[in-house]
Amino acid sequence: MATLFRDFADLCKKLEKTSSILHKRELIARFLMKLEKDEWKPFVLLLTGKILPEAEGKSLYIGYSTIKKAIEMKVSTLVPLPQPSILEVYQVFIEISSISGADSTRRRIEALASLFNRLSEEEKNYLIRSLFGEMRIGAVEGIVIQALADASGNSYDDLRKAYLLLGDIGYIAETLAYNKLDIKNLKPIIFNPIRTMLATPADSIEEAYELAKGPVAVEVKYDGVRVQIHYKNGVIRIFSRRLTDITRFLPEVIAEINASFKVNSVSEAIIEGEVIAVDAEEKPLPFQILMRRFRRIKDFDKVAANIPIKLYLFDILYLNGELLIDMPYRDRYEILRDTVNKELLAERIVADDIHQAKEFYEEAIEKGHEGAIIKKLDSPYILGVRGSHWIKVKEIATIDTVIVGAEWGHGRRRNWLSDYYLAVYSAAIDEFMIVGKTYKGLTDEEFEWITKKLLELKIADEGYRIWVKPEIVVEVAFNDIQKSPKYESGIALRFARITRFRPDKDPKDITTIEELKRLYLKSFRDII
Ligand code: AMP
Repeated sequence: MATLFRDFADLCKKLEKTSSILHKRELIARFLMKLEKDEWKPFVLLLTGKILPEAEGKSLYIGYSTIKKAIEMKVSTLVPLPQPSILEVYQVFIEISSISGADSTRRRIEALASLFNRLSEEEKNYLIRSLFGEMRIGAVEGIVIQALADASGNSYDDLRKAYLLLGDIGYIAETLAYNKLDIKNLKPIIFNPIRTMLATPADSIEEAYELAKGPVAVEVKYDGVRVQIHYKNGVIRIFSRRLTDITRFLPEVIAEINASFKVNSVSEAIIEGEVIAVDAEEKPLPFQILMRRFRRIKDFDKVAANIPIKLYLFDILYLNGELLIDMPYRDRYEILRDTVNKELLAERIVADDIHQAKEFYEEAIEKGHEGAIIKKLDSPYILGVRGSHWIKVKEIATIDTVIVGAEWGHGRRRNWLSDYYLAVYSAAIDEFMIVGKTYKGLTDEEFEWITKKLLELKIADEGYRIWVKPEIVVEVAFNDIQKSPKYESGIALRFARITRFRPDKDPKDITTIEELKRLYLKSFRDII
């Protein structure tokens, strides 16, 4: 029997009321077990706020104003329409995503309005939250994966790995419902990006070396864009660390990989590296210059010709049918070396003592790179985790924050949203916490652009200030971190200024509240 959207809203209410993770897990698992097989996927997508399908890596975002208009639109029907089921709601979004052409905004609003018309206020509220990807009922992906494990009789560890590898929670729910997920013999789906392994920050090369304990490689930390390259029989797709498809911006990389794989008879592979912008002598150029390539669609070839790039590869995850992620880095690197042209490999040494590591690090800085990454040679590739197997050291201390709100400016800036609320991430509660505010660091052009973008991301309007979907990641420099009652986080950045935009970073990959608190304690120690 079809499950009503009403039942979904009831579940959301219960989830919102309980703070116990265990209880949430139980509620979701029980709900799953009552569903029909074809409802698993729509349910999980609704619950995790992923109902809007992705098209070419771009999410079909339905903005605040579209939703507002749909709510305000009066739809009259002769007979009251029946309550929609979960499947019907899902179907409406599939239809909305295929709407295109001249009249598309109006048609989208109408389709949404007729759906809203069949929902109660409470149901509408949960649906809107789901559309914004902000459910705020604590059903974070981790808990949903746990519930999926319980409902399907799998272990959480196995399912988590499947999720990180396959990247698609809807696909996982669907294959589980039909008993089609081969959990013990997982293979990545080529062209479906995998959650990348990340590095933990350290304050100095000495500290990084100390933390790593044991045999390590020291590699240059290139200041560019992380690329995960998927290859299958001559076809290449390149993904950023936010898992978006950036293939069309990097034609040179396609040519280099094709050349490498042809000589080494590769049929399928997934490899990783970093792409940076370089000058005529192949010296590294700042990240912002590279970013110009990614903003350009018109006249791309002309812009690209002026911004030469260089690819540096450092890992291989999959080769000709074999998943390599559980192998030690030492072995994966050897396979990588045998698979690609040597000139494409990241510069690195295997260091036996701190002096070698330090010398390498200083040389990297001298050459204009951002820093170094120390990698444990015996570590597996851990999907989606910022662990202690990779430790990064950078010269300048900045943090990455996301903009969650903005205020309208005054005087010359009155037409711009020019004062921004900066937040860091708390993994523990899956929320962003404000740690400061800034109006410094942007050019007029950037004010113009960001105002438009922030209005698109608006989720609440208070007149002089708006709150937005956390999407725009900015790197900020600051002079100090202070204790402050002003924000719920309890700390505030002093003299924060935006140093650059980080569109390549996912909002959940930014600095965490724990990292910031550690930095605070450290600065305190330094004063004493
Ligand atoms: P961060 O962006 O500060 O969190 O640092 C991690 C990022 O450094 C990775 O996501 C890569 O994009 C980048 N990176 C640069 N060089 C390397 C390298 N040799 N190994 C791994 N990551 C690297």
